[in-house]
Amino acid sequence: MQFCHIWLRGVRDIFTWHAEQLSDEKNSPVSAGARVVVKFRNRKRVGIVVGISEKKPDFKTQPILEIWDENFLPTEFLEIAKNVAEEQFCSVQKILGMMVPEKFLLQKNPEIREKFFSLSGTEFENLRGKNQKLVVEKLLKIPEISESELRKIASLATIRGLLEKNILQIRVGKIIPAATPNEKVRENFALTPAQKIAFDQISKTKKPSVLFGVTGSGKTEIYKKLAQQILEKNPDAQVLFLLPEIALTPQLIAEFRAQLGDFIAVWHSNLSVGEKIQEWARCRSGEAKILIGARSAAWVPLQNPKLIILDEEHEWTFKSEFAPRIWTHELVEKIAEKFCAKIVFGSATPRLESFQKCAIGEWDQARLVDRVHAVKMPDIQFVDLKNEGKKGNFTPISEWLADEISKMLERKKQGILFLNRRGFSGSTQCRKCGENVGCPNCSSPMKLHKNFEKEKMLCHVCGYLKPVPEKCPTCGAADFQFRGWGTQQVEKVLGEKFPGIRVLRADADSVSGRYDFEKILQKFHAGDADLLLGTQMIAKGLDFENVELVGVILADVGLGLPDFRADERVFQLLTQVSGRAGRRKTQGKILIQTFRPEEPLFQFVRNHDTENFIADQISDRKNANLPPFSVMAKITFSHADKNISFRESKKFFALAQKSFSTGGGAFSKKNPPPTATETSQKNSSVGVQWAPAFFPKSHGKFHFHVFLRAPDRKILQEFLSKNCDQLVAKIDLFPASLL
Ligand SMILES: [Zn+2]
Ligand SMILES: [Zn+2]
Repeated sequence: MQFCHIWLRGVRDIFTWHAEQLSDEKNSPVSAGARVVVKFRNRKRVGIVVGISEKKPDFKTQPILEIWDENFLPTEFLEIAKNVAEEQFCSVQKILGMMVPEKFLLQKNPEIREKFFSLSGTEFENLRGKNQKLVVEKLLKIPEISESELRKIASLATIRGLLEKNILQIRVGKIIPAATPNEKVRENFALTPAQKIAFDQISKTKKPSVLFGVTGSGKTEIYKKLAQQILEKNPDAQVLFLLPEIALTPQLIAEFRAQLGDFIAVWHSNLSVGEKIQEWARCRSGEAKILIGARSAAWVPLQNPKLIILDEEHEWTFKSEFAPRIWTHELVEKIAEKFCAKIVFGSATPRLESFQKCAIGEWDQARLVDRVHAVKMPDIQFVDLKNEGKKGNFTPISEWLADEISKMLERKKQGILFLNRRGFSGSTQCRKCGENVGCPNCSSPMKLHKNFEKEKMLCHVCGYLKPVPEKCPTCGAADFQFRGWGTQQVEKVLGEKFPGIRVLRADADSVSGRYDFEKILQKFHAGDADLLLGTQMIAKGLDFENVELVGVILADVGLGLPDFRADERVFQLLTQVSGRAGRRKTQGKILIQTFRPEEPLFQFVRNHDTENFIADQISDRKNANLPPFSVMAKITFSHADKNISFRESKKFFALAQKSFSTGGGAFSKKNPPPTATETSQKNSSVGVQWAPAFFPKSHGKFHFHVFLRAPDRKILQEFLSKNCDQLVAKIDLFPASLL
């Protein structure tokens, strides 16, 4: 008899059942990864076998009732789940929950049984009540909706009402594939000589390759060729393609589909339950040959992944803020190891960690140094905003930038304006007493937002909303100063300076719905706007033929943050955003506005000198023993009671100090948080440091960090697993941010 450890969704522990011979013809034992039906607390439940033992436990077990699939979850993925759970201090149940859509545990074949609703006409008169309107509004945005999704926004009575009026129609069956291409496809698919060299270099090594290619050098062409090569060689192979931003998927899907055929599945967190079920089933069955998606797609258990591509690998979105807090890079390495898959990490600005992996020979680097079509790299100029103030121009648009925008408009070209701050302005301060309008839940200033002349204050950390105060709560004066620029203010100023200009704004305020960003990009592609104005969401891999001008409204945002990656981050952002200009025929023009033009990092940006910037950073990090030259863990203690949070963090800090009995110590003026310029701790021992979070209070809780730095991961892993049981804290190994 076999004893099977079975995971049931929503049940905290893994329980054991036994497997008997289930039917006459079958006597094959149950294997790990099988989907089975068991009785749990007198209810039939479906679960997944995660482990098997022959030894009888010392308690009475119940039998497995049915086996639905012998091989539901590939054992490789089951092993990955266990391994990641252990390394990331989270439960294996949580990871399995990410690998398997919920409905697969409720129904035997959920992918072929769904009901779908769509609009049957275009006239929607006599809609009764706001519930019916809500359904119609939703369906105007998407072609159809599954019953389960519709039930989330409408009652059965509402649905029946709409069906009776023939406003809704119903069909049973498969969902329209999520991968519906709606972008133009670039025609040529021959590699340039430079691309061919990079392609050959990537093909000939089994190591992960970093494709380090300047913006506009045609990395996508190489990805397509690699996918084509793998699929031709091995018809059972699958390709996993990961992107940092889901709005980028339609264009890519169109390109892949046009050249490689219709075997594409899509995966991201915005898919509906019905879409997830279908795409998941296609990936599992091997019907889908290419899976394109955001970070979460890496958890979809593919049958036989042979090529994994991580495009824009420098993006922070490849690191999860929530448990398991694993870098996607690390996860795909685990997958590649199990399936002997090839990995390609592509970027114009790879992470320092990736450069270092190449430097020590663990990964291989392939280069693309020129743009395709012999287009020159864009010309980058800096505008000193201090001079604008002297001229009496306090708007976010300098004279020079205004001039370039006029020229661009005359030539009927398009431009991109980038400002990494949404809202209307940065902070709101009382002119009389200097008090800042702050959020009651967070130690962060509230920002002014203006929408159609409606004003409100919003906290960007927790989302708390309140009206603009009439009087200062401290001194009672009614004289506020709004400092700093946000995208809404830039939009307003553009409208005043260039009457009739067509501006599309892309930030968290204008992009809230599932397809909003995609729609903005499509409009811009179609030439329905002169300027695309946005926050960092527009810096990610966008490719527009007609864009000639890029303006960075304020490059200083993010500089000087107490984080050793602050410079790297700003460099990546500026280089990426600059790369959006002049990608086809003409050389682009970039204007970067700043109050600190002398900043050394800007010189590297101006000269497109990624290599020397990296060399500079590498030497700083090495001297300071910072990642990638050490392994870091960030342990965060959060509590609504400041004293508890403080005390717990200090207790853990003392424990870590005692265990490693080394230097470090609390942060102070003399011992600041780790930065790239820090040069202490050259020894190889474990460094222990304590600090309040960058926003000491947020979401109504107080946060304190303890940082551990060790020469290798094992030391930290061991210490944390030994001590993390008693910890009520967030453990982040390889944190992306120290704030
Ligand atoms: Zn005041
Ligand atoms: Zn807040």
